[in-house]
Amino acid sequence: AKLDGRNTFRFFTPEMQAQSVRALQLENALRRALERNQFELHYQPQITIATGEVRSLEALLRWDHPELGRISPAEFIPVAEDSGQILQIGEWVLRTALAQLQAWRAAGLPQLSLAVNISAIQFHQPQLPELVSRILAESALPPDSLELELTEGVAVDDPRAAIATMDQLHARGVRLSMDDFGTGYSSLSHLKRFQIYKLKIDQSFIRDLDHDSNDRAIVSAIIRMAQALGMRTTAEGVETEAQLAFLREQGCDEAQGYHFSPPLSAANVEAYLLHRRR
Ligand code: C2E
Ligand code: CA
Ligand code: CA
Ligand code: CA
Repeated sequence: AKLDGRNTFRFFTPEMQAQSVRALQLENALRRALERNQFELHYQPQITIATGEVRSLEALLRWDHPELGRISPAEFIPVAEDSGQILQIGEWVLRTALAQLQAWRAAGLPQLSLAVNISAIQFHQPQLPELVSRILAESALPPDSLELELTEGVAVDDPRAAIATMDQLHARGVRLSMDDFGTGYSSLSHLKRFQIYKLKIDQSFIRDLDHDSNDRAIVSAIIRMAQALGMRTTAEGVETEAQLAFLREQGCDEAQGYHFSPPLSAANVEAYLLHRRR
């Protein structure tokens, strides 16, 4: 028993302790973030490669804390998932994104749609389809103006339940995208049964396209597979003209990345779209 105790003690390293202190600190700060208005959505354009048009934008959450500064969603989303806070935050994201889209459409941008990231925790809530429909109805927007970005992880534990939820969302007219495609563990036998409108090719395959022939082979294969399955493709993390040229040549539908624009505040989106149309 003594040995066990000592091993257990040693297993909890100072580094791990610092990590869990930080997670606790973030969890406490998150509890007040919504009521104190510390969240904001930024929006990153997705460019239709064939025409250069922007038809959709991805909403990305930003959190500015008065003392802790700006905290990356890559850090605080996992904390919010562990604590369950992601449900409230995710609902705020959906509501805020759709209210913004409604405002843009009213301001003369009728063709825009928005993509919203959905955490696996949210996806597994039985009420999600109902909630999405309710928020869409509140904003009086057509369901196909909303894309929900899911990750392959949603289908790992219970593929059948995941397919049923995707079917429900699809039946309500919402579009589904598979985010970070190629990095998860979903099997291709499931993919063909998913009601997926779009595959988002993970930026890890795009980054080294110029000098990695394996990445070129993978990206090209994903695009051809998606075409055969009747799904669209969006390349993430496009930063250079050379990457874009390869994607265009391979028939990728959309590109998103710093080559076009970083995520922008709502006000800057309007300026960006206006500038592009000239
Ligand atoms: P993601 O959904 O894969 O989002 C793409 C990330 O890549 C964003 O990071 C974006 O700013 C970044 N990015 C865009 N273009 C480029 C580029 O050309 N090069 C590089 N290196 N990066 C680029 P961000 O905004 O920090 O978000 C990180 C992750 O946090 C997201 O990854 C997503 O998984 C999660 N996230 C963000 N907002 C939300 C949200 O509202 N709900 C949920 N559940 N997750 C969110
Ligand atoms: Ca995403
Ligand atoms: Ca992604
Ligand atoms: Ca990602």
